[in-house]
Amino acid sequence: MAIKDSSSKTFFGHPRGLATLFFTEFWERFSYYGMRAILIYYMYTAVVDGGLGFSQATATAIMSIYGSLVYMSGVIGGWTADRVLGPRRTIFYGGVLIMVGHIALSFPGGATALFVSMFFIIIGTGFLKPNVSNVVGDLYPEKDQRRDAGFSIFYMGINLGAFIAPFIVTSVSDSANSYHAGFGVAAVGMAVGLVVYVITGKMYLRDAGKQVPNPLKSTEKKKMSGLVIGLAIGIAAIFTVIGLLQGEYSLETVIMTVTVLGVIIPLLYFIVMMTSKKTTKDERARLTAYIPLFLISVMFWMIEEQGSTTLALFAANRTDLSVGGFTLNPGIFQSLNPMFIIILSPIFAWIWTKMGKRQPGTPRKFALGLFFAGLSFVIMMLPGILAGNTTTAVSPLWLVFSFFICIVGEMCLSPVGLSATTKLAPAAFASQTMSVWFLSDSMAQAFNAQATQYFNADTEILYFGIFGFGAVAFAILLFLGAPLLKKNMRGVD
Ligand code: GLU
Ligand code: ASP
Repeated sequence: MAIKDSSSKTFFGHPRGLATLFFTEFWERFSYYGMRAILIYYMYTAVVDGGLGFSQATATAIMSIYGSLVYMSGVIGGWTADRVLGPRRTIFYGGVLIMVGHIALSFPGGATALFVSMFFIIIGTGFLKPNVSNVVGDLYPEKDQRRDAGFSIFYMGINLGAFIAPFIVTSVSDSANSYHAGFGVAAVGMAVGLVVYVITGKMYLRDAGKQVPNPLKSTEKKKMSGLVIGLAIGIAAIFTVIGLLQGEYSLETVIMTVTVLGVIIPLLYFIVMMTSKKTTKDERARLTAYIPLFLISVMFWMIEEQGSTTLALFAANRTDLSVGGFTLNPGIFQSLNPMFIIILSPIFAWIWTKMGKRQPGTPRKFALGLFFAGLSFVIMMLPGILAGNTTTAVSPLWLVFSFFICIVGEMCLSPVGLSATTKLAPAAFASQTMSVWFLSDSMAQAFNAQATQYFNADTEILYFGIFGFGAVAFAILLFLGAPLLKKNMRGVD
């Protein structure tokens, strides 16, 4: 549904509702990435020094299952907006839950507070993130030429928030000498986002997203509760079996359960879409072309998301952080990813426009994305090879370079990923495409929850090598196989 805005004022030539969504998502991402910039360090810092005293392996695993669940819950958020609350209210409740989650971590409450906070932020982000992106699409009539540009501006908002947050959160936590003060900043950020959303939303969004698109019929309610109970039993069964296999019930059991869910949920989605009566023959062919693309993006996000896990460990353990008598907080390396996105986005937009019809199609762009991500890890083998893995003083420029190369890849894959999902998913599942796209990141981090536990100074070179060369190999395969996929895409480029 497109909203008519009678006022002549625009937001960079776009409907003013985009400003509301831009700043809401800016603040939400500010709180999310600000919190993540220090969370890993909080988890493995010794208890006497104000941390939780987990091992580094456990800390990276928790970072990964957290990231996985945050994007998995988009399925619930998308469904709630579509069938129960409508996007506008779902976004609002999501913001409130996120804020409560950050508040829980703002006070010293040990591991319990962490898990309570995670619970709120996982559900809250699932409610907010996919829906705020959906409403961006609703701002434009079907064929409005400005739609793609609107999403690019919105994507800038995401990355501006992600860029600024690590500086503010680390400097507050450093000067207060307390991680909790840093988490408090994240809570304030989300609160500001909520105020912006409510106040400017009234003026600019008007009634957009207020309706429930496909309200749940009373006859369906019984079926739904059956499904929810079935799902809960299924998850409990997976958890029980994994615990039995592991010989004990521990945090490891939870981590493995999330890994298994990270695979099963997308798999179920694809099976339902493939076998649905509503899916036409052409749509089925497109889905077969989409599945390899989905898996390639899983591999891409496996590397990209390690920017906040294994590379965060590398920043703290192996990098010379002293600059002019001043010690950098390793958390600020988290600003590199969004910084390069902000710098490179206009350059890539220019390159693609300049290339016009000669630009690579979606499969080849995905291949390039994965290739550069792989390269960014191959580069990280070098400090260990050149300087040995016992030194703690390699140049921070290795990380800067690695993030830069990975973002060159992100420029090729991320902006086209969502639109590819929209075009290749069957029409009957249109309202869920945002969730399907986020499931690729979710699956990636589910795998990372296992893989990152093997990362340490001793395994570093091999670890980066396996990921890096593995990704490069798959990228080359996809590049060569692209014409084959194109045939099944049935006219979608
Ligand atoms: N980093 C982006 C964000 O936080 C993209 C995540 C994704 O598309 O998986 O919105
Ligand atoms: N590049 C990520 C995303 O687009 C942000 C980050 O990892 O900091 O938003």
